[in-house]
Amino acid sequence: MKFSSCIAAVAVIAGVNASPHPAYQQQDQQALGTTSSPSTTGYDQLKLEDIINDSPLLSLHRDLVKIESISGNEHDVGLFVAQFLESQNFTVVKQEVPPVKGQEDTKARYNIYAVPKSSTQPPSILLTSHIDTVPPFIPYSVRQPQDATSDPEDLIIAGRGSVDAKGSVAAQIFATLETLEENPDASLGLLFVVGEEIGGDGMHVFSDSKLNQKEAFKTLIFGEPTEAALVSGHKGMLGFQVLAHGSAAHSGYPWLGKSAVSAILPALSRVDILGNIPAEEGGLPASPKYGPTTLNIGKIRAGVATNVVPSEAMADVAVRLAEGTPEEARKIIQRAVEDATKDFEAEVVVDFKSHQESYPPQDLDVDVEGFDVATVNYGTDVPNLAVAASTKRYLYGPGSIFVAHGDNEALSVRQINEAVVGYKKLIQAAVDRDGQVA
Ligand SMILES: [Zn+2]
Repeated sequence: MKFSSCIAAVAVIAGVNASPHPAYQQQDQQALGTTSSPSTTGYDQLKLEDIINDSPLLSLHRDLVKIESISGNEHDVGLFVAQFLESQNFTVVKQEVPPVKGQEDTKARYNIYAVPKSSTQPPSILLTSHIDTVPPFIPYSVRQPQDATSDPEDLIIAGRGSVDAKGSVAAQIFATLETLEENPDASLGLLFVVGEEIGGDGMHVFSDSKLNQKEAFKTLIFGEPTEAALVSGHKGMLGFQVLAHGSAAHSGYPWLGKSAVSAILPALSRVDILGNIPAEEGGLPASPKYGPTTLNIGKIRAGVATNVVPSEAMADVAVRLAEGTPEEARKIIQRAVEDATKDFEAEVVVDFKSHQESYPPQDLDVDVEGFDVATVNYGTDVPNLAVAASTKRYLYGPGSIFVAHGDNEALSVRQINEAVVGYKKLIQAAVDRDGQVA
């Protein structure tokens, strides 16, 4: 599908009730695969499908969401994005990323890196997001909101990835196309990576490769659901395991064994509240910007039977760091566990190697006017991409993180349209900074 001839008109559709540009009618009229039950008032389902078909942006978003791309299985969505960008006159590099452990049989997965065919230099402005999603797959659907209005901007688009992050992907692509239409010399590139939801293996591969032209990339625009706010930063991340080793015995004679559970419980009770204890008293530090450091004991495993003194116990913990470095946090955690368990026979150790991913809080740029500014508590690919010290980094995108990984993942047509405008504003600010002609 060739959209470039009508890109300028997308903004018109964003302004709602405009009648479809004639060029839209040349599109494939793809039927929606799965749709929610038609609403009893307002539009019928066919009309809803027409509204999506009439917008190249919403059509691209639909096509992306319809392709299942749970982390590890990004082959199809990657090829789709590559093909789409090639059809829009981009030179596309498909960068293969090794398979996810245990999924060696799945088809090859690719980061998609694209620059306009006409460009001779690496881009100075790179827009990036991810094409994988969390499980389970939820089919694409369009519906009217509860309080049905006749405004197509209020329509709700649902499905896995509709928000996180295919809303960002579609909006970034159209913001780029529209900018190039208006300013063909704008130095723009696109990067859509795999594996963001499982630790960022895709972005790591890109970051370590020759494609990462650190010195050239002056502005990075990351796409994640931020409810159209510019994110001033997000917390850091650190994971660890607490392991207790004791010895087994009959539960009627517990003194003959060493209970790993009895030993791990005080350790975990202490770990659980480390974010609430002042730093002076051995807790993990808070910050005015990000609030308290929080911990989540997400997994506990111990013992073999109720009538056996447990010889082994383990817990997996995730920390969202508000302040300081992972190294400092490790020392605080180590000390807290030692203090809490010194009176127990079973041995308790903290293993930081099992969770190697860690990074300090990530501060981002917010120096473009016209945006709400917010901080977020979730992790992104931002720390996984090595950049030059002077590189500007922005984080922005449509939709809310509160629905992003839920069964109710959805956003409105208005949110997607507005994100195109938002990305274009960020691009324009970068173009102006670079002294390019607009
Ligand atoms: Zn995401």
